[in-house]
Amino acid sequence: MTTNLSLQERKQAVFANGQGNLYPVYVSHAKNAELWDVEGNRYLDFGTGIAVCNTGHAHPALVEAVKDQMEKFSHSCVMVNPYESAVALAEKLTKLAPGDSPKKAMFVTTGAEAVENAIKIARAHTGRRGVIAFNGGFHGRTNLTMGLTGKVTPYKDHFGPFPGEIYHVPYPNPLHGISDEQSLTALSTLMKVDISPRDVAAIIIEPIQGEGGFYIASPDFMRALKVLCEEHGILLICDEIQSGFARTGHMFHTEAAGIEPDLMTMAKGIAGGIPISAVVGKANVMDTAPVGGLGGTYGGSPLGCAAGLAVLEVIEQEQLKDRAMMIEQRFMESLNELKARYPEVVADVRGHGAMIALELMTDGEVSKPNPALTKAIIAKALDYGLILLACGFYGNVIRFLPPLTIPEAHLREGLSQFSALFDEVMAE
Ligand code: PMP
Repeated sequence: MTTNLSLQERKQAVFANGQGNLYPVYVSHAKNAELWDVEGNRYLDFGTGIAVCNTGHAHPALVEAVKDQMEKFSHSCVMVNPYESAVALAEKLTKLAPGDSPKKAMFVTTGAEAVENAIKIARAHTGRRGVIAFNGGFHGRTNLTMGLTGKVTPYKDHFGPFPGEIYHVPYPNPLHGISDEQSLTALSTLMKVDISPRDVAAIIIEPIQGEGGFYIASPDFMRALKVLCEEHGILLICDEIQSGFARTGHMFHTEAAGIEPDLMTMAKGIAGGIPISAVVGKANVMDTAPVGGLGGTYGGSPLGCAAGLAVLEVIEQEQLKDRAMMIEQRFMESLNELKARYPEVVADVRGHGAMIALELMTDGEVSKPNPALTKAIIAKALDYGLILLACGFYGNVIRFLPPLTIPEAHLREGLSQFSALFDEVMAE
């Protein structure tokens, strides 16, 4: 029989070390929130392949759409012979993006590529060089996005030199002593010390940091950022790659602040696992880059566009924004019980919709992160039939990203398994 262990041994022999895997669990098949490995073990997937399968694994509507497209054609290159699904997806996304300005879209393949293109567009539009990003932010692993990512280990260590003209400021994080005002002050200090606002093309921010630990920028902060950008002619780029597509109870979390970003990046949940990503932004900004300056062979692939259209339909038909809010409520109840039971280690329970975090500390002190406990919980998750992910600037956050389509029974089961898992690890 093929075992997880034998596959892991084979993988280690032929995969570069840098592309590691969290669990030695080799997937055989998956359905909505359930996932089975090659040994027949069943898990509840509270990670959805890092916020990708918002509509659950193998949603029938997605399977149908992709099968149908595959039978017709799998590739022609949107830059050679385009097709209606790409136009239709762009029409939908430009309508869904927050704000009233006319919008345009462009498609690429991965999250990092979307971010790269947003920066290219911002630089082309403003004729400026500087880009400001936030400490703890994650924007990708390519050279430019690695430069934007605000964490050295494991993303930047060993991989320099880095692209120039990228600056970082603290992300607002009251739990760790950084108020909105302090973050804004850091921005204005940066613009006195290092770069004139006249030279800044864009500020890029995740409305909720993903890999960074699910820290949330307050609506007030997002609005203040928008005002600052407008004052100086700087473009605001919202990176919604992890927080988009109904994940937080909004189609895009930027909506919570009621602002219109100049550019937005989208990927992950956009197409349930078929690789496609997008930049959507104000039409006059998007149009600045010359013909041929943006795109790529696979950008906006027919399979990605078909899957993207199916995802948007499922989000609407199954009211997944509302389901995200229901999921939030269940998680909050259950995790706050844990917080009450273990006040010495649970520092915070936070999140919006189905993007929820449990932050762990030592001795009741928020300033003492507890990555060891976080690792111990992740390591034991398989025994409880759970796929869990960690994240965080300090490596001390368990993040929950269940499918928005998760049946109630599986949600209850997963939460009670998590609670039992937590009890066991605490008793050790
Ligand atoms: N931005 C954010 C907010 C992300 O969460 C990620 C992926 N974790 C990326 C960009 C990069 O996406 P990809 O891995 O598809 O390149």
